[in-house]
Order: sequence, then C-alpha cells, then structure tokens
Amino acid sequence: MPETATRLSVVERFLRYVTYDTQSDENSKTCPSTAKQLVLLDLLVAELKALGLTDASRDENGYVMGTIPATTRKKNVPVIGFLAHVDTSPEQSGAGVKPIVHKGWRGQDIVLPDDPKAVLKLAENSELKEQIGNDIITASGTTLLGADNKAGVAEVVAAAEFLMAHPEIPHGTVKVGFTPDEEIGRGADKFDVKKFGAFCAYTLDGQTRGMLEIETFSADSMTVTFQGFNTHPGLAKDTMINSIKVAADFIHRLPKDRLSPETTSGREGFFHPYVLNASVDRTSVKFIVRDFVTAGLAEKEAMLEQLARETVAAWAGATVTFKVEESYRNMKEVLDRHPQVVEHAREAIRRAGLEPREHAIRGGTDGSRLSFMGLPTPNLFAGEQNIHSRLEWVSAQDMEKSVEVIVNLCRVWEERA
Ligand SMILES: [Zn+2]
Repeated sequence: MPETATRLSVVERFLRYVTYDTQSDENSKTCPSTAKQLVLLDLLVAELKALGLTDASRDENGYVMGTIPATTRKKNVPVIGFLAHVDTSPEQSGAGVKPIVHKGWRGQDIVLPDDPKAVLKLAENSELKEQIGNDIITASGTTLLGADNKAGVAEVVAAAEFLMAHPEIPHGTVKVGFTPDEEIGRGADKFDVKKFGAFCAYTLDGQTRGMLEIETFSADSMTVTFQGFNTHPGLAKDTMINSIKVAADFIHRLPKDRLSPETTSGREGFFHPYVLNASVDRTSVKFIVRDFVTAGLAEKEAMLEQLARETVAAWAGATVTFKVEESYRNMKEVLDRHPQVVEHAREAIRRAGLEPREHAIRGGTDGSRLSFMGLPTPNLFAGEQNIHSRLEWVSAQDMEKSVEVIVNLCRVWEERA
C-alpha cells in the first residue's frame, strides 16, 4: 500500500511525541502530576497554532484546547470534540523511548534490540493476525512505547491538519483537547466542560481497529469495619474481642469461585477486597465493587453486608459498620439519552471500510467521568496494543484509519444536522 500524506503525518508526529517522557505520578498532589507533561502539552499548543487553530492554549492545570472553525453554511451543526491524553503509565518507564518502525511486517517474530528476551510474536498476539504487510511500530525493549495514548494525540493533530487543509469538506465547529494524568485516574478532574463548549466528544484511546466503546463499569467503593475490644493480653480472658480474627473469618466467607476479578469476565461484576487496616480493636476491609448496571452494585453490596452480619453473629460482642461511596457510573446511562453520539460513530467507522466492534470496558475511562460532567464521550480506537508493556505496539495503517474515522465523524455530524 502506498504511503499517503495522512499516514506520513500521523506517523511522523507519533514518532516525535513518544520521545517526550510524560509519565504521570499518582503520589504527586499537583495538576498535572508531573511538570514534564507540560513540555509536550506546550509543544501541542504550538503545533495547533501552526496548523491555524489560532485560539489554541493551555490552562494552568495543563489542559490544552483549540478550535477548528466550521466550514458549513448550516447553522445548527452541533459542536463536537476529540480528546487524547498525553501522560503514560507509571507502571513502566517512558523515558528515552526509541521507537522502531518495522515496515511491511511479514509475520516474523519481532525481537526488540535493547532486550533480546522481549519478543513480539504473532502466535501470542491475536491482534497481529490482521497486521500482515503493515508497518508495526514498537519500542526498543526497555521502555513502553507510549502508543497509549500518543497514538490518539497524533491522530487528533493529523485530523486537524487534514481538516484545515481541506476547507471544502463541510463540517461544524470541531474542538480538540489534550489532557494530563489519565493513567492515574485524574484526567477528567479539572477538565473545563463549559470552556470546551462541545455537545459531545470522543476520546481516541481504544485498541483494535473499528473499536467503539460505549459502556464502562459502574463502580463503588465499600468499607466494612469490624469493631472488637482490646485489653492487655495477660488480662484478656473473657473480655478481649480480636477484630483481626473477625475480619479474617469474614474474608474466609467470601465466595471463592465467583464474584471476584480473578473469576469473572465479559459482563460479570465483582467485589474485590484490596486494602486491610488491622488492629485488635478495629479492622476495616476496603472493597471495590463493580457491575455494568447500578442495580448490580446494590445487590453485591447487600451480599457483603449480609456476610459481615453473619460473621459478627458468630463473634459475641463484635459489631460491624458499612460505608459505601460512589466512584463512577457506566457512561451508557448518559449515551442512551443521546443515541446520535453513538450512531454517528458507527457510521463514521463503516465509512472507513471497517465494521464497528462494540465492547464494554471492564474499568472506567475519562470519558465515563466526562459523560456525567455533561459531555457525552464514548471511546474510539487509536490502534494502541499491549498497553503499559514493553511489548506495546501500534500500526501506521491503524493510526491512519483512526484519522479517517475522525474526519468522517465531522462530515456525518454536518450531513445529519
Ligand atoms: Zn490511555
């Protein structure tokens, strides 16, 4: 396949962006969590301005926004937006990334030169089956690549470049945005929905070509606290109640073959103890609770409560209290109220010659938070694969397809207004 101008642009941008170390840090209290993210964010402002997005700017929290002016004569075309995050995962080094383009890949093992034990194999990566003949981009073996989410960043900028160069394509006002700190769950925290001014947006942060993600988990956290009674151990007979033992009994009663992250997949929910604060007097167990429907969360929380009450009934004098906090909700609840947001995305994917692959995310996204902040935001594929890993990869052809989908979406929203 000959290289198109769009593919050259998106690949060139991607190869450049990944050399910036933009790792976020969950232990930092600042926003963005690391100052190094600002270096890339500022570069993006300059690049958007160079493309003609004259209002492009970064705010004090690191959020970049810019506007592609409308080309249509229609007055009623909704403003839509495209978003990507610049930070990379704290789980793997993103410093000194050396991207390698494996042109016209023929299916052979890809040995990463800086660690010969890091080998990307067709047999172990089902997604690679669709990539024979394509240009596969990897890191060199000692770092992640950063395709999550610099593939998305490069795609949004390349789409902006394409639209600015083709004013004959009718579209409404299009907003672009780049955000920090997605990987530490704070990407939506300081996002100014009002200033962004769009009716809906799309994050470009999905994996496989054609993918459209419109569902996320609904999530709560639940703390179960057991109150015992502490005394001097030498004088404890008939008075001490050891809450550590009560909590251990409770944890022992949790189902072993179901309702846990390690025994569920697809659309099944779970509860998951992940922190224990223990002392003889008082022990609390923290859970995350997940399901795709909010009613499913309540069922699981009721079950935990029931098990905890049965436990304290077996330990004379022990008591238990519960605290449930909402974390986030399935964005489908919002998207169902705006069916055209999803319908137009399906159409844009089909026009790029792909079949939409819809899939429910067993987690949350910035988009799920933004959807409940008033900006309905499903997630589109960016092509990033094996994310947070030294074997991360993306293909040039998938990035090009993603740019095509962004441009198609702008057209579809205009046509159907
Ligand atoms: Zn991501």
